[in-house]
Amino acid sequence: MSYDLKTDPEDTSTLLHRIHILESQLEEIRLQTNVLLDIARALNASLDPRVIAANIISAIASLISIDQASVCLYKEKTQEFEVIGVFDSRTISPQIPPNLDFSFLSEVLAKGETYYCPPGNKTQDWEWICCLPLQNAQHKTGTINIHAIRQAEITPEQMQFLETVAGHATSALENALLYAIVERESITDGLTGVYNHRYFQKRLRESISLCQRHKRSVTFGLLMVDVDNFKLFNDRYGHQFGDTVLQTIVRELRNNLREEDLIARYGGEEFVILIPEATEKIILFISEKIREVVERTKVYNTATGVDVSVTVSIGVTLWRSTDSPTSVILRADHALYKAKTTGRNQSVYY
Ligand code: GH3
Ligand code: MG
Ligand code: MG
Repeated sequence: MSYDLKTDPEDTSTLLHRIHILESQLEEIRLQTNVLLDIARALNASLDPRVIAANIISAIASLISIDQASVCLYKEKTQEFEVIGVFDSRTISPQIPPNLDFSFLSEVLAKGETYYCPPGNKTQDWEWICCLPLQNAQHKTGTINIHAIRQAEITPEQMQFLETVAGHATSALENALLYAIVERESITDGLTGVYNHRYFQKRLRESISLCQRHKRSVTFGLLMVDVDNFKLFNDRYGHQFGDTVLQTIVRELRNNLREEDLIARYGGEEFVILIPEATEKIILFISEKIREVVERTKVYNTATGVDVSVTVSIGVTLWRSTDSPTSVILRADHALYKAKTTGRNQSVYY
């Protein structure tokens, strides 16, 4: 629209009024841009999906009076949702809403469009209003669900804001998930999935500090597990089948140890197991159980058509208060050497 400045004062005042409106609109845009910048910064400041989810919810709460909200991650592989953030204005320790309908979230993700059910248009028997898909061209990452809101409805501007937040949230969550994968890969062994040597060393140092801080004499056990005559085994059945056998051994170790016991690949066909709060009796019992399980486990070899098995020798020791990480490993190694030189397929305590 253009104005002729030579017109009467009435028009000038209209013009000033118009400028005033434009100025306040500009101010609002500036404020919104700042809020969005803050949100983008806050979302990208963390690599923890749960912290990001909490930030997503507080970003939304800064603009809309939400009563309930949740953020879900979608696992494409299993097609399952995991709730990683919940908000309920009535309590500081909200529960996952019992009426969260995951099949509906799947539909929203499949369509890839924001679902909005305005007030007075309730087609669902549960109280929610808006579900925003978190996705980009590569992945479907999750959803933001606003279950109920106090204000009458979401305005088109607010919806635009919500969708912008969802865009930032998608990138932040994608980054965090990628980081978790890289972090996990950096501490695990590619073939067997157990922890690697470096991570074991870290946990060994931590276990030592933990025991040193304890007043009563708490200790941990170390088992060095080495496959017997594995070179011969590989020569006979091939390296690839050898790999399958190593994976099978690890599966059996995992099945026969507790959650708190740590298994790591020490190198080649050698594994180390750290058993917290152990005694000589306990670790010898565990060691023998493992040895027997491996001996009994059969792996079918398709090339020869027979079930084959391997045995392991195990060096067993307990951490002593004077031990360094190196000295406790050396003792377990020594015990393993003893087990190898005195017949294999046995546990030796030192
Ligand atoms: P010992 O009973 O004295 O331990 O004899 P060994 O043959 O098991 O020991 P040695 O150290 O002579 O050989 C270890 C073998 O383990 C040689 C190597 O090919 C095999 N090995 C190491 N890592 C892997 C692996 O990732 N996959 C397979 N298939 N074999 C491996
Ligand atoms: Mg060996
Ligand atoms: Mg070895």
